[in-house]
Amino acid sequence: MTDSEDDGPQGDRVLADARAAVVEHAPALADLTPGRTGNLSVRDGDRFAVTPTGVAYDAFDAADVPVVDLDGEHVAGRMRPSSEVPMHRHVYRGYDADAIVHTHSPWATTMAVLRRELPPIHYMIVAVGKRVPVAEYAPYGTERLAANVVAAMEAADATATFVENHGLVVAADDVGTALEHAIHVEDLSRLYLRASAVGEPTELPEAELDTAIEQFEGYGQDGG
Ligand code: 13P
Ligand code: ZN
Repeated sequence: MTDSEDDGPQGDRVLADARAAVVEHAPALADLTPGRTGNLSVRDGDRFAVTPTGVAYDAFDAADVPVVDLDGEHVAGRMRPSSEVPMHRHVYRGYDADAIVHTHSPWATTMAVLRRELPPIHYMIVAVGKRVPVAEYAPYGTERLAANVVAAMEAADATATFVENHGLVVAADDVGTALEHAIHVEDLSRLYLRASAVGEPTELPEAELDTAIEQFEGYGQDGG
């Protein structure tokens, strides 16, 4: 931490952009997950800004937002950090990602309760991989849960995983993308469960998923 960053009693300028992004995006998290469940973080180098534990998503400002380093040390911010700091730390240590979103969103959590992977029933799954795995249950906020989340994501080569009897974790390059991908997984979980109620959902073959991945590389206004 440099002197210029360390303004104010709580180091208000430490990771100012990341903390502003947490405040800006927290209301979108509130739309996805019930009450004070879930959390999100934004990484900058070897530190990250994370939602405070047990606080409504419209009840904190940037100076409240905790900043934590990759060893779990709370280095700035008035409020106590999310109980899931171990999960955020482990994912950042294992992945290139700069943002993490964790939800208890209802359809993804239904998959987590069923302990069922999301198969490739729709091409949009490639936003997070070719399937969404299920990480083994462990008590919330523990190092064991954090290790289970990373192990599931690595084994599936995915940037998202359900967590048994708990919810969903998504990692991405930025917090807007992480939220968007959490919404995709929530929608695909709903689609899968509705289709399963009527019959056997069909799966796309691997080659079609590879084609979708290639297509997305040129998708949107910057593509060509
Ligand atoms: P926090 O309020 O501590 O972030 O916890 C919410 C949660 O979802 C724990 O898994
Ligand atoms: Zn949770």
